[in-house]
Amino acid sequence: MMSTKIGLIGGSGIYDLSFIKKNRTEHIETPFGLPSSEIDVAEYNGKEIYFIARHGKKHEFPAHVVNYRANIYAFKKLGVDRIISVQTVGSLKEEYKPGYMIIPDQFIDFTKKRDYSYFNGGRSLHVSLADPFCPQMREASVSSLHSLGIPYIDKGTYIAIEGPRFSTRAESRYFMNFGDVIGMTLVPEVILAREMEICYLSISMITDYDAWKVNAVTAEEIVTVMKNNINKAYILLEHLIPSIPDEYSCKCHEALKHAEV
Ligand SMILES: [Zn+2]
Repeated sequence: MMSTKIGLIGGSGIYDLSFIKKNRTEHIETPFGLPSSEIDVAEYNGKEIYFIARHGKKHEFPAHVVNYRANIYAFKKLGVDRIISVQTVGSLKEEYKPGYMIIPDQFIDFTKKRDYSYFNGGRSLHVSLADPFCPQMREASVSSLHSLGIPYIDKGTYIAIEGPRFSTRAESRYFMNFGDVIGMTLVPEVILAREMEICYLSISMITDYDAWKVNAVTAEEIVTVMKNNINKAYILLEHLIPSIPDEYSCKCHEALKHAEV
């Protein structure tokens, strides 16, 4: 049986596969342009891993200009069937503290001007996003977090905003009514993965409280939290990647089956 090919998307602070030995590099072109970075390919405990630095290797692409369509399409071209996406988020709940990891199971999209689809004419396809994340991968990640003793929240709603600015306090208080964490990178990544029938998991790392909290944290505190989060993310990935099942119990790979109208 073929082992699963895992696409790894690194967010802020994660620009390479530092814990794994790289085998080769792929330069992929897509009909949507170039992905954010060249793609590092590695093998790790029987899994083939393809790594893209979402913001570029030198952080040259902020969240609102990342070429999400090229990134996901490049993965599809390489045969990636499962994506692990690492992102940083702000907390909308007092009890969800900076330093925690959250594995969202829902999102609400407040972004404004991104390229959300591969299907903009020709075929009329409407994929279901009722359950946007791969249940099988969510389960594997929660069990890894549990056995590693990393503080985590096993589900929640991710509020996606356009950026690059952060929210006003009024916006932040409004979002608190619907969501648990807030960030700029999940959408349209998760949607495009579904359209390409690739499993998608978000590992969201909480760096700070969003603007609702007055006098939240200093920049220095954020930097410390971020450094710790990055270390934890590497520890988690080392544990999680080998535990991702090669056989599917999910329906992510059939997303287009009933999508044509
Ligand atoms: Zn899946």
